[in-house]
Amino acid sequence: MNRNAWSFRVRDCFLLLLFAVTAALASADETAPVRDPKQPINEGYTAKIKKYTTAPYFSSPLVDYLPASKNVPAPDAVLGDVAGAPGILPYAEDVYKYMRLLEKASPRVKVYSIGTTEEGREMIAVAVSSEENLKHLDENRARLAKLADPRTIKLDDAEADRLVSQATPIYYITGTIHSPETGAPTALMELAYRLAVDESPYIREIRDGVITLITPVVEVDGRDRMVDIYRWHLAHPKEFYPPLIYWGKYVAHDNNRDAMGVTLKLTENVLNTYVGWKAQVLHDLHESVPYLYDNTAGDGPFNAWVDPILTDEWEMIGWRNVADMTKFGMPGVFTHGVFDTWSPGYLMFIAAMHNGISRLYETFGNGGADTEERTLDPADYSRTWWRQNPPFPKTLWSQRDNNNYEQTGLLTSLHFFNENKRLLLKNFYLKSKRSISKPTEEGPAAYVLPGDDPRLELQTELLQVLQRQHVEISRATLPFTVAFPPKKAKKSSKKEDAKDAKEKEKDAEPATREFPAGSFVIRMDQPYSRIADALLDHQYWSPDDPQKTPYDDTGWTFGELFNVKVFRVTDPKVLEAAMERVNEVKPVGGVQGEGSIFAINNNAEPGLATLRYKLRDASMEASEEPFEAGGKKFNRGSLIVRRVGRSDFDRAANEAGLHAIALSAAPSVKTHPMRAARVALVHTWLSTQTEGWWRLAIDNLKIPYDYISTQTVGRNDDLNAKYDVILFPPVGFNSSSTTIINGTATGWGNPLPWKNTTETPNLVGKNDSTDDMRPGLGWEGVAHLQSFVAKGGVLVTATDTSRFALSIGLADSVSIGTAQKMNIVGSVLGTRLVDAASPIAYGYDEKLSAYCDNGPIFSLSSIAGGRGFRRLGGHSTSRPTGRGTVDDPDFTVGRPGAEAPEEPTVELWEYPPVSDEQKRNGYRVIPPATRARVILRYADSKDLLISGLVEGGDEIAQHPAVLDVPAGKGHVVLFSINPVYRGETRGTYSLVLNTILNFDSLDAGRKLAEK
Ligand SMILES: [Zn+2]
Repeated sequence: MNRNAWSFRVRDCFLLLLFAVTAALASADETAPVRDPKQPINEGYTAKIKKYTTAPYFSSPLVDYLPASKNVPAPDAVLGDVAGAPGILPYAEDVYKYMRLLEKASPRVKVYSIGTTEEGREMIAVAVSSEENLKHLDENRARLAKLADPRTIKLDDAEADRLVSQATPIYYITGTIHSPETGAPTALMELAYRLAVDESPYIREIRDGVITLITPVVEVDGRDRMVDIYRWHLAHPKEFYPPLIYWGKYVAHDNNRDAMGVTLKLTENVLNTYVGWKAQVLHDLHESVPYLYDNTAGDGPFNAWVDPILTDEWEMIGWRNVADMTKFGMPGVFTHGVFDTWSPGYLMFIAAMHNGISRLYETFGNGGADTEERTLDPADYSRTWWRQNPPFPKTLWSQRDNNNYEQTGLLTSLHFFNENKRLLLKNFYLKSKRSISKPTEEGPAAYVLPGDDPRLELQTELLQVLQRQHVEISRATLPFTVAFPPKKAKKSSKKEDAKDAKEKEKDAEPATREFPAGSFVIRMDQPYSRIADALLDHQYWSPDDPQKTPYDDTGWTFGELFNVKVFRVTDPKVLEAAMERVNEVKPVGGVQGEGSIFAINNNAEPGLATLRYKLRDASMEASEEPFEAGGKKFNRGSLIVRRVGRSDFDRAANEAGLHAIALSAAPSVKTHPMRAARVALVHTWLSTQTEGWWRLAIDNLKIPYDYISTQTVGRNDDLNAKYDVILFPPVGFNSSSTTIINGTATGWGNPLPWKNTTETPNLVGKNDSTDDMRPGLGWEGVAHLQSFVAKGGVLVTATDTSRFALSIGLADSVSIGTAQKMNIVGSVLGTRLVDAASPIAYGYDEKLSAYCDNGPIFSLSSIAGGRGFRRLGGHSTSRPTGRGTVDDPDFTVGRPGAEAPEEPTVELWEYPPVSDEQKRNGYRVIPPATRARVILRYADSKDLLISGLVEGGDEIAQHPAVLDVPAGKGHVVLFSINPVYRGETRGTYSLVLNTILNFDSLDAGRKLAEK
């Protein structure tokens, strides 16, 4: 039986079991989902619902009417029409206005401000429940807090049962994190009204039994831009409307990939609300799949750190939801398929990682409020075992239909949740308890971040991520020693050299390690150990996994990506070490010693760049060699700072988390100036998300820069007059060079403006604007970039923009190979330092982990116009058939023998030496000084995988990962990795920052090949 057939059978059995469980949970005397005939309905509103619903089966008995209320306003009070009406898309402000009207009119509604966005807009959470429940929120929260942290009740199950029987659970719903998915706000306005007003027993049970918490708009900045676009579209009905190129200030779709790093305000605000309310569910609403795909029971593989209690809940809730809606006769409701549940980066996963239940709906949206005939992809309407009642191939679809599905799904979910709340609250307690007992169950006992890590600034940043995740952090007050278990010896191949064998012997012995006082300890006997474990552990995605299309990143190990030391400790003795809780991890730094010259060791920490720009008038130099001063050892690239007052310097160093030593005399070491380069960051009008993560990082580091589009580059014929360094971060979606140059076709259609007008007051924010988004860089822009580099500028590119730089001839000696079977999906890979003397490498060690997503495979060639090729060593160097033994020279009868010259051995990241034949009339031989300098290469095949999925890794193993290419008087710095990504890769930021800080000395320490 092959693997797939086997897994299919297992799945089938699993399903039968689930249906049995679900059936048992649904009792026979369930409350029917029908309206209360005694309560009058709002006739006008109900008629409109009917009118805007395009087919009767796109509705349900729960939402095909609106109960009337004398004192509580219905959504039309603000919208001017019913929720989901065609042509109506409210701004966040209008949604809030309505929620606050509800709060004013009904004691069953309370509105809370939960923070602001990057652009200063408010985020809210609306609680809807019975008057009684809302009156006793604090007592209830105290009960839930005890279930959330079972240490407070000494893990006493009987006490937990008592609390479970008294507590009211919290069900948290979040809408429109993805701005073009527009339906949720109106659906949630009407849902809040129904929950507050409807007197049918079905709804009353929800109201009395559950506290529904609603954040109607998660991406508020993006919502307002989207409404602008829709208004523009209404005002210009015959024209194409501009695509929503910016959602939030920094990122678009990736705002739903931030639940690991928590770098965006919206993630932080939702996370704080979820954890603060001690909610049991986080249910996030999306719109990209017809008609309702409940991702609650997503596809495999499941994240390894979630509790199996949760995966059972997913199946139970997901399949029950499908069953309930199927019974209403609503087509196209399904669960299970489509995407895997591996990455914890999704917003809803905040719940999964904090002992709750994560849920996600994809309903069907039209990206606006037009009613349209939609034609589906065959993959979307095919009947599968998990989609027995698929959508129709063609559908007339309205925003009201979407609102019907969203509300019906949510109401049945809330009702089911209420019916099973004792079970689900008990599960909440059990998951929390099992998080606390991690050290004595699956382990580990703790993670330790040593107090003597050379990168304390990055260590602080990693700890701050954990604090934003509400993870408790402790600090050792005394040194302590723990044991590490022997590493399991890998099955050895027959041949094993002596060195490997020796190493294995060493690994096989248990080792102990002493950690100094001041080391940070992340104890695993705490309620939120799960998220810490998931972020700090390693990930392994098997190339044999039946899931062949990972939906997102497969690896993310934070210690590796932050370039800080993290020890996974299974020895329970670690928990007995003397330690104290740290309430707030803050950067610590400053200056020690006497003298007016300050030296800072370079450990590739981003704070160095912050310091450079903060102390604009100070003189800073970088040492080109390691040195010793003031009794300390300094790495290559360390800073020597002059002409700044001690107190100013001390304050700035402290804020940046950097430790400095004052010296009375400068060390005698070769240096070059480290100037504050003038920086531009270039974006396209195709996509701004991937560069958005770069922008966010650079803003956080307080490095000033001009934010310009490729169109601006096309117009500026003297870029050198304004900039020293141009960052051209990845465009995303593997954009081709042609697309970057041409942009979007302008041969037809209308201009697509991105600028503020009366219809679109929110589009620009603090970002960029244009009269027409369509034109790209253009050939003028290409020429301007070429001339910028030729005249001494530094251009930094990564992944797809590195391809672009090569395609416009900026690096003759570099080519990109075509992958045959390589599959590296958002993984953490090992790299190795090749040229430690390069300023780009300042502060880095021999080994560095980096983020790679099928990065370009660079190869080098010393011959201009010649393509580099892959030299896997497969080509035969063994002797041909002939006389003698294998090591003997062959002979030719009748003449003296000729010894063949020895073939030089060349590594994959090196230039093949120029052969004698190539030197003959060698006009194409690239002079050594013009060849690329290899800064980092990918590790050998066996060391390539740090975390995630690596398949066919030998195709990129050992190839250059970061290259510094001299071009004219300037440089192009090419990345195959993405060094700045989702706030998760801070350990590689300094590769970019070093380039900026040493922009006019990049050739420092360069050793040239002979020829
Ligand atoms: Zn979405």
